[in-house]
Amino acid sequence: MLKLRKLIILLTLILTILLSANAFAENYLDPTRWEWCYSTDEYGIFIDNQTIKYYNGIAEYWECNYYPRSCQSHNCGEHYHYYLSSINFKNNTIATKGIIVRNFNGKVLFSDYRPSYGLRFEPIAPQSVAEVTANKVRSILQRIYSN
Ligand SMILES: [Zn+2]
Repeated sequence: MLKLRKLIILLTLILTILLSANAFAENYLDPTRWEWCYSTDEYGIFIDNQTIKYYNGIAEYWECNYYPRSCQSHNCGEHYHYYLSSINFKNNTIATKGIIVRNFNGKVLFSDYRPSYGLRFEPIAPQSVAEVTANKVRSILQRIYSN
């Protein structure tokens, strides 16, 4: 009896892992342009290698945070946060210029852009998600500009 219970717990665990891995795989982002960067149990971060730009130490790029389920702000199930962001590699700071939230159909639920005079660059903290993102952005830029 105890063995059966252990087996059921094990099967449930395996199924949960498979289903959650599947949830992250089944987003509508084109994997040839949206490069995986980081995942938590709530969302995955992807960087667009087609619109990324670099000039004079400053990168501008689109980042997508894919949520397989609702987030704290949007009670709509699977959805996507797109951020237009900028990293200044000269002083290691990051700023968000705009955000678009789309549902699983691609319908825009929310969008907002900040004028350049309202941009606030904030320091990238050691061992933060922003630092992981900055490293990914740097590696994409190095690959693109070395070709
Ligand atoms: Zn959300």
